[in-house]
Amino acid sequence: MKQGIPDTIKLFRFASRSLTFSQRYQVKDLPRISKLLSNQDSTVDVKLSFNLEEGKIPCIKGEIKLDAALTCQRCLDEVSLHLQPKFQLAFLQNEQQGETLSASFETILNTDEEFSTIEFITDEVLIVIPMTPMHKHKCASYQDTQPINQQKRENPFAILQQLKNTTKE
Ligand SMILES: [Zn+2]
Repeated sequence: MKQGIPDTIKLFRFASRSLTFSQRYQVKDLPRISKLLSNQDSTVDVKLSFNLEEGKIPCIKGEIKLDAALTCQRCLDEVSLHLQPKFQLAFLQNEQQGETLSASFETILNTDEEFSTIEFITDEVLIVIPMTPMHKHKCASYQDTQPINQQKRENPFAILQQLKNTTKE
């Protein structure tokens, strides 16, 4: 059964009922993410499945899909990255609880039964946003393009002068 994601995650309650939710958000619905991205109206698709492992450990399996328009740290133009974080989290009351869990789970010590859905999604997206986003192709760096622009502005004699200087060395 699929339904829109409630604003508040009720961890144990959702897990014990094995609920699955999916919802389409927009980047602007996630305040901490929208500060970092320029594509505010772009979609963020989220799917969350809850279940209880070993009859007592609430788990969330999820997938988020979004395009992130960031500023390339090499050429300062926009770079659009497709991000698709997938996660499988087990919420433990104490570390001992996790000892028998499958290693595919990322474990989190947590005693909160309720937390904000938006904050939860935001944290999972923040993990995958690169600190220094860059184009995959070799875009020119600011330093590389600077001399080319200068040459265009200079007159031919100045370039000759430069050549002479180089020969002397
Ligand atoms: Zn670039």
